[in-house]
Amino acid sequence: MRLSRFHLATVKEVPADAEIASHRLMLRTGMIRKLAAGIYTWAPLGLRVLRRVEQIVREEMNRAGAVELLMPSIQPKELWEETGRWEKFGGQLLKIKDRKEAGYCYGPTHEEVITDFARNELKSYKQLPVNFYQIQTKFRDEIRPRFGVMRAREFLMKDAYSFHLSAECLADEYRNMYDTYGRIFTRLGLQFRAVQADTGAIGGNASHEFQVLADSGEDAIAFSTESDYAANIEMAEALAPSGSRAAPAQALERVATPTQKTIDEVSAFLGVKPEQCVKTILVRGVDGLVALCVRGDHEVNEVKAGKLAELPGASVLADEAEIVRVTGTRPGFIGPVGLPESIPVVVDRSAAAVADFVCGGNQDGSHYRGANWERDARVTRVADIRKVVEGDASPDGRGSLKIARGIEVGHVFQLGSKYAEAMGATVLDDGGKASVMQMGCYGIGVSRIVAAAIEQNHDDNGILWPEPMAPWRVAICPIGAQQNAQVREEAERLYAELNERGIEALLDDRGLRPGPMFADIELIGIPHRIVVSERGLAAGTFEYRRRGESENHALDREELLRRLG
Ligand code: ATP
Ligand code: MG
Repeated sequence: MRLSRFHLATVKEVPADAEIASHRLMLRTGMIRKLAAGIYTWAPLGLRVLRRVEQIVREEMNRAGAVELLMPSIQPKELWEETGRWEKFGGQLLKIKDRKEAGYCYGPTHEEVITDFARNELKSYKQLPVNFYQIQTKFRDEIRPRFGVMRAREFLMKDAYSFHLSAECLADEYRNMYDTYGRIFTRLGLQFRAVQADTGAIGGNASHEFQVLADSGEDAIAFSTESDYAANIEMAEALAPSGSRAAPAQALERVATPTQKTIDEVSAFLGVKPEQCVKTILVRGVDGLVALCVRGDHEVNEVKAGKLAELPGASVLADEAEIVRVTGTRPGFIGPVGLPESIPVVVDRSAAAVADFVCGGNQDGSHYRGANWERDARVTRVADIRKVVEGDASPDGRGSLKIARGIEVGHVFQLGSKYAEAMGATVLDDGGKASVMQMGCYGIGVSRIVAAAIEQNHDDNGILWPEPMAPWRVAICPIGAQQNAQVREEAERLYAELNERGIEALLDDRGLRPGPMFADIELIGIPHRIVVSERGLAAGTFEYRRRGESENHALDREELLRRLG
């Protein structure tokens, strides 16, 4: 591509609401332009990158045996009523009406449409298993669209849906898709983790999210230093500490802590470490209040706590008035010793292993020191109710946990018979009996990947594309081409040669001065830059620089071509 014929429109200033690097860089490079909240035009530069991602996704899906189709983006209301999602999907569903007042939605996902397709097309077990996929525009009316195409309202997704006669067959295809996603993100050159997302009703591995690691990610994930264990922080199990609890060595003693309420204040005041303290949080239970006790240096994990039998399915903090009414004490001084009998005490595994601890005194302005479980404080139940922290043992027994932030770029899910059941999608099995199909679904955020890749690969000067995603692999930058025919000719010759070899090159023939020209080429993240100059040609060399490095290399034509291989 000759840059003079391409629409490259880099800009210096970006709106203040562009908070994260990828959003800023996509606007500065002119990859995208905003049309409305969460709705973007992919300008030519952005589209080149988007198409590369799409191509790799398509190639790997095909290789995995999935078959491509294309479903409509406008979907009739009646289909969504069959599954109950017309109401249940909530505000993200953009509902529209045609001129006859018939209801439709703009598809946020395609389970209904594909299941309708499947019930009409698939009649016999002999047609199974089959995995249909499409790469298509979705619309979700996100409450807070943000970060450009990262959380857009209109976005491009690859969605696949597989159909099976048995749960075992579904599990096989799930594994196949899991492996395929690994290949896709590896080929794209991204650092990622496959993360257990939900243990769900269907079984241990029913759902995994693929997360690209980046500090700006919305999700916190825990992963092992030694194995491929990784889980959403909400899901990661905190193991019980090894060894048994020490026997009580201290007597229970009430100490005055007139103004000290937080763990930091209390531990500093009493000269103990936070891990020697027990923090007690009162939440609303099924029947009155429930006490959740964790070590002072730990936090309650609300998702885990929400699953306790004592709680009504969600963990909601009790309000101050209720706490005072039931315990006679203000928050900050609550502890497990001497709590009213009506309050179950759920103790985290790590907190349960502490002896001689400090805890709230259930009296305003006081704490206990030398408290011990069983001897002084009731334990209704020991459970895993805390958030894992960096350095915890990995639940699979290998290595310890690290915590990082991630961007969800893919999601694989074993749906089982949920949609097929609701919509009556059956096939005849080998005995001639109608059997409800098992289903899996597998999504990839194609447009989000572009932003996620930039989050992971940028510096102060701009984007550093992983080579497979780069809009062009090489940029040729002639200096002083207008004045020097030889520079012009050599640049043209190199351009033709690279193209002939299938190396996609961009010739910067805009006639800019070196400074602005290099700044643009760096900003848009072209992996290899070749400068053609009078001085270089006199020495028989080109000046080569790899994006992200600060060194130039004077290379002759042979060496240069070898390097670009
Ligand atoms: P999120 O939790 O980020 O909202 P989701 O769980 O709703 O994602 P899925 O329904 O699993 O997402 O959709 C499949 C993929 O589509 C996601 O893994 C993500 O990469 C992408 N995606 C979802 N919502 C958006 C969006 N608003 N903008 C861009 N990509 C999106
Ligand atoms: Mg969502």
